[in-house]
Amino acid sequence: MKTPFVTQRIYTRPGKINNTSGDFVCLHCEAFVSVEEALSGVRNRNHCPYCLSSRHLDQFEAGDRLSACKAPMRPVGLTIKQIAKKYAGHRQGELMLVHLCQDCGKVSINRIAADDAAEMILSVLEQSAKLDPTTRDLLARNGVVLLSAAQIDLVRQYLFGINYSLSQEG
Ligand SMILES: [Zn+2]
Ligand SMILES: [Zn+2]
Repeated sequence: MKTPFVTQRIYTRPGKINNTSGDFVCLHCEAFVSVEEALSGVRNRNHCPYCLSSRHLDQFEAGDRLSACKAPMRPVGLTIKQIAKKYAGHRQGELMLVHLCQDCGKVSINRIAADDAAEMILSVLEQSAKLDPTTRDLLARNGVVLLSAAQIDLVRQYLFGINYSLSQEG
């Protein structure tokens, strides 16, 4: 039998939840979060679906869990990740959440999971309009182009899909 990863001892509460799957308790809202792929639709779920907060666990790539930082990461905005040209039809890219580590300032771009709270995603977009210049500058230096609050219809289309855009046209 393998020894459980050390990180799991840190981001779950010993005694309260006993698992080896990587499920965690959100640092921000204390919700229990399952990393079950069938629920989230993504691998390596790294943020809470209720408040969208994350934790600085990965260093080089999603799921590597190599970071020693472990501080909370807050959602600061939304961006569109460009995808390969052959897929560029009516969609130009994928809507992504931008997280900022509250301790070391690491910026990371994360896929939105199927069960992430849509109203929280819209609220992140709204809040991102009020970001301070230092944070904006940091994001820009990381090559992140934030969506503006004026692009809320685009975001709704990503979140609510084709039915939403059809109902808008009809
Ligand atoms: Zn949470
Ligand atoms: Zn950090």
